[in-house]
Amino acid sequence: PYDVLVIGGGPAGASAAIYAARKGIRTGIVAERFGGQVNDTLSIENFISVKYTEGPKLAASLEEHAKEYNIDIMKAQRAKRLEKKDLIEVELENGAILKSKTVIISTGARWRNLGVPGEAEYKNKGVAYCPHCDGPLFAGKKVAVVGGGNSGIEAAIDLAGLTDHVTVLEFMPELKADSVLQERLNSLPNTTVIKNAQVKEITGSNRVDGVSYIERESGETKHLDLEGVFVQIGLVPNTDWLGDTIERTRMGEIVVDNHGATSIPGVFAAGDCTNSPYKQIIISMGSGATAALGAFDYLIRNQ
Ligand code: FAD
Repeated sequence: PYDVLVIGGGPAGASAAIYAARKGIRTGIVAERFGGQVNDTLSIENFISVKYTEGPKLAASLEEHAKEYNIDIMKAQRAKRLEKKDLIEVELENGAILKSKTVIISTGARWRNLGVPGEAEYKNKGVAYCPHCDGPLFAGKKVAVVGGGNSGIEAAIDLAGLTDHVTVLEFMPELKADSVLQERLNSLPNTTVIKNAQVKEITGSNRVDGVSYIERESGETKHLDLEGVFVQIGLVPNTDWLGDTIERTRMGEIVVDNHGATSIPGVFAAGDCTNSPYKQIIISMGSGATAALGAFDYLIRNQ
């Protein structure tokens, strides 16, 4: 069996695996896509001590660093079940069962979908989730951002510099974003904010040509002509596969203590899949290190 088995190969998982391997213990990592969300990021300017890097480059460095150590790397594999017996068993979608004394879950998160007609149909044909990746494709065009939280308003500010016009659609009567972001948005000439708006449908023929929404106060349906819709309504943790085995928040985030320990002894978690605040690369890496050291401590005390 492994001493430490890491599930997920983003910044949190890579960091956890390296910290574990540096203790000279048997370490494995299962990753559907090594690098995780970092692969989808264009420029990164807040990874301290690196002034500027790009997602795919950082993702490659994570893997290169992990390969420096004696770590079993299992790529393009998904975990589908975790069970605590004498050892902890993790079943993969290919049927393999891996056994380990401790497990670190670092399966990250993904963008939340709106779930309205047209969204799935026009994904990558005008419907986008990542302004950093897809913003330039909409240069000179009209776009909407759905969601008035920090990520939505950040996206709108970003897109205002690239596109002709940005309309923010927010379901609630107020934006939830920090006031400094709202002020910045309001200072830009080519942005409009529509509050109390429930997106009903993303319309199009081959590509997006607009968005229909219900004006919640009047109940009236309105339509905007535009060429892109950026959905910014939050991140969903990739924790469905755990079912009821482990304590999670209402949002599905794994509850961890300050050692990265979960409700199952020997199972630790790190990064965007947990209830720790602020989902960032540097924070994920720090929590991966914490979880690995937490797992090592557990091994010392429970052998
Ligand atoms: P993730 O990066 O989500 O990695 C999860 C890993 O788990 C992946 O390897 C995935 O394939 C794997 N996985 C998932 N489910 C399973 C399963 N069932 N079995 C096996 N493997 C599984 N942060 C910054 O600090 N600066 C930025 O500039 C920045 N820009 C961003 C831009 C975009 C477009 C996005 C999407 C995010 C950005 N972030 C940024 C956030 C940052 O990318 C995340 O906080 C960070 O990647 C989280 O790391 P993680 O390891 O917890 O999870």
